[in-house]
Amino acid sequence: DRERRIQDNWALIAAYKTALENNQRLIIYYALPANFLGANLRTYDFMLKGLFESFNEALELGMSVKVEIVNPVEGVSNLVKKYGASAVFTDFTPLKPACGWRLDLAKSLEVPLFEVDARNIVPCWVTSDKLEFAARTIRPKIHRYLSDYLDEFPVITPMDAGVFDELSSNFDIEDVLSMMNLDDSVIPVDTFLPGEQAARNQLNEFLQNKLQTYNDGRNDPNLECISNLSPYLHFGHISSQRVVLEVQQLDIDESFKESFVEEIVVRRELADNFCFYCPNYDSVDCAWDWAAKTLAEHLDDTREYTYTQIEFEKAMTHDQLWNAAQKEMVKTGKMHGFMRMYWAKKILEWSVSPREAFDIAIYLNNKYELDGRDSNGYTGVAWSICGVHDRAWFERPVFGKIRYMNYNGCKRKFDVLEYINKVNHI
Ligand code: FAD
Repeated sequence: DRERRIQDNWALIAAYKTALENNQRLIIYYALPANFLGANLRTYDFMLKGLFESFNEALELGMSVKVEIVNPVEGVSNLVKKYGASAVFTDFTPLKPACGWRLDLAKSLEVPLFEVDARNIVPCWVTSDKLEFAARTIRPKIHRYLSDYLDEFPVITPMDAGVFDELSSNFDIEDVLSMMNLDDSVIPVDTFLPGEQAARNQLNEFLQNKLQTYNDGRNDPNLECISNLSPYLHFGHISSQRVVLEVQQLDIDESFKESFVEEIVVRRELADNFCFYCPNYDSVDCAWDWAAKTLAEHLDDTREYTYTQIEFEKAMTHDQLWNAAQKEMVKTGKMHGFMRMYWAKKILEWSVSPREAFDIAIYLNNKYELDGRDSNGYTGVAWSICGVHDRAWFERPVFGKIRYMNYNGCKRKFDVLEYINKVNHI
């Protein structure tokens, strides 16, 4: 579901081992729901091109493949019946639509359904059985298990049980895209090449040229210090475990590695914990009590500016820095991480209510970011607008005790005009 790669994928490894032990054929099946959280042409173009590459690899390894536009519950149930499958393996996601499919499948299938967390290094439910309060509460829990789980992956090698003839060729990307009736106003971008190989290249480039500057430079959107791995991690073209294994092998000072590992392990796994254990992760109702109270107390504060969703979407605010961040996302499919915080906090400041602000931020994030529709996105918006995983700050209008960010703060951190110019010239 989330983890669309052949190697380094614990869900596929579990299915592969079971098939080998029983000398059975293995089918990799991908059901494409007609409308997943506002996914559009940009999203599906990237995802399907990556899937196509992975399917080619699977075919070479002697597996059968099938992609279908269908409700996943219906699609998997039919496949199990048609091919007499003895077990179904899926990966894990905490997002509600996909959790619902898994539950429905578990109820309706007459064969075992195994759910394997192939996204987090320490499985989400092993790390913690409850909603974690902050990075500082989950960090020791993850680190307690990390060395147990941070193993090298077994390699998937060719299988010889045979393939199903009608499932022995790849799909046609253009055919599938045209059958999906997608919103084509959000066009594909060429900023990132999709797929497992491109993800590996991106990782190598980061390790060789950027990791040593990551800690000092990651909050400057004019510098090229960040990994740009999020589209690949989001679509499962690469595993965070592989990334961390490669980082560990680098012969550089440990201090260069720490802040990056903190983001890709602790922050990222905290996001899945939040979405898994907080049923309201996708609305302002996810706010902890202190944050809900302070936002409610400031609901009627006068807003100096207010914008509608469409004004935000078209980058029509009075703030050229905010507009540049919005345009960066629309044009490239990826806003710089530092700007995402400023961007979401200003949506809170300039919307008629925190509820509307949350919904607008999620709508835009899911629509334009290649890495959108991800637990990291819901958590990032919840952190910015509802103070989730953060603490109370000094009280001020509109924000109450939610952490505030402003233009001058950005000016102190980086050359704001350079960023605006850079985006305008993309
Ligand atoms: P790097 O800094 O190179 O980090 C490497 C990886 O670590 C990232 O790819 C990501 O998997 C993880 N990571 C880094 N920062 C965070 C974080 N704060 N929380 C969780 N994981 C993190 N991330 C998404 O993947 N998808 C989203 O839709 C998304 N939306 C966001 C919205 C807002 C309002 C905010 C504040 C943050 C959002 N983030 C999102 C988190 C973070 O900004 C991005 O993961 C990061 O900018 C991606 O770029 P990168 O891979 O170059 O990051």
